Amino acid sequence: MNYHMSPEEFRRHGYKMVDWIANYLGHVEEIPIYPEVEPGEIRKRLPDKAPERPEPFEEVMNDLDEIVMPGIMHWQSPGWFAFFPANSSPPSILGEMASAGLAIQGMLWSTSPACTEIESHVLDWLVDLLGLPATWKTAGPGGGVIQSTASDATHTALVAARYRAGGSISDQVVYASSEAHSSIEKGARIAGFEHIRSIKVDGNQSMDTGALIAAVTRDINTGLRPVFVNSTVGTTGTGGVDPVLAIGSIAHDNGMWHHVDAAWAGSTMICPEFRNHQKGLELVDSYVFNPHKLMFTNLDCSVFFIADRTPLTDVMRILPPYLSNTASASDEVIDYRDWNVPLGRRFRALKLWFVLRSYGAEGIRHHIREHVRLATELEKKIESHPSLELIAPRHFSLLSFRHVAGDKATGQLVDTINESKKSYVTTSSFDGRLFIRISIGQTRTAAEHVDRLWKIIKENAATVNG
Ligand SMILES: *Cc1c(COP(=O)(O)O)cnc(C)c1O
Repeated sequence: MNYHMSPEEFRRHGYKMVDWIANYLGHVEEIPIYPEVEPGEIRKRLPDKAPERPEPFEEVMNDLDEIVMPGIMHWQSPGWFAFFPANSSPPSILGEMASAGLAIQGMLWSTSPACTEIESHVLDWLVDLLGLPATWKTAGPGGGVIQSTASDATHTALVAARYRAGGSISDQVVYASSEAHSSIEKGARIAGFEHIRSIKVDGNQSMDTGALIAAVTRDINTGLRPVFVNSTVGTTGTGGVDPVLAIGSIAHDNGMWHHVDAAWAGSTMICPEFRNHQKGLELVDSYVFNPHKLMFTNLDCSVFFIADRTPLTDVMRILPPYLSNTASASDEVIDYRDWNVPLGRRFRALKLWFVLRSYGAEGIRHHIREHVRLATELEKKIESHPSLELIAPRHFSLLSFRHVAGDKATGQLVDTINESKKSYVTTSSFDGRLFIRISIGQTRTAAEHVDRLWKIIKENAATVNG
């Protein structure tokens, strides 16, 4: 008896699956963006017990439509303006398929040399493509590694910083602005830091470096040791940019690790005109950005660069006898298991490689520029509308604005946009006041989708009131 799906059956279902995905992407624009289900509703449709007998695969596919789809939020809709995009693209999906087909485990160079070498090489390409310091390439002291998420990468940076600083963690201090992503604090907590300082921001939502110096000085005077500071390029709330160069020199003067979180905005650096926002990378110890946001590569694909990999691999490397091999012992290869927390590694570089080759740098630049251009146009319209006001300058392709009548009117406007089911936005707050974020950058978002969004905003901004 053999329960495996035969290669012929796999071929048949596989072609159908590709059709299913192509149909989905072809029609996603017409589907209401968010699902209307009650908690527990999807689970209720599943049988209590796992199947004892094999089921025909047709039935499994059928339930993809019947059970799964009603509970899906359509992140790939071109009307997606919420949070940040979690983009994908056909070449990325194909890379993911090849990766699942090979299903290798790339923990060591020797467990699939192509997995490691393509990853190192593609990330070296990105150093040039994004205008990052050449020393971050693997031929130098640094290098890049693909991690699951920016949260994991930042956690890793914190662990390396803690190790490099040495001594007891109980007097080590971590700094980030009040607008920094929650993953900085989460990573610091997981790494065991006890002192985490939130530094205030200025009117542009950038870290106030005077406040950073004051906090560092205060901590030193009370016998604590500043060891880590995070700069954000493109904050999650409003897209704010910290002064990377100034923070870098404060970090340098105080022997701190300087990490840059460019999870969202990092992909835009493929366009040289945005690189003024990351001046000062020479004084940076580590950097993370997510191709799984704006670079058309589906989750998970977060790229972590480190200027000097020694503290990272020193703290991560444990060599049990069952993993020893001649290649690792020769020191001529990279074993990525020493660059991140997990041991097991998927072949994630494949989808990134496919995307870079299929779009070419010029294709990625074209689409990112177009999204920023659409944001610039929309910014002008919001600015000139009497009932709307921007709460922060536009950064990259993110707009943050509110209704002048206050939170209630702003909330009503959000509901009206989202109830249209064609466009979807989310909110945040600053200084206790609600605002709407419009993040333009979904793979398929074009002028018509932004126009449709603006039409709803314009038609309703005048009628809602606090
Ligand atoms: C999205 C985002 C994160 C978190 O990214 P994950 O990959 O989901 O962990 C961190 N920082 C910034 C600035 C982000 O935009």
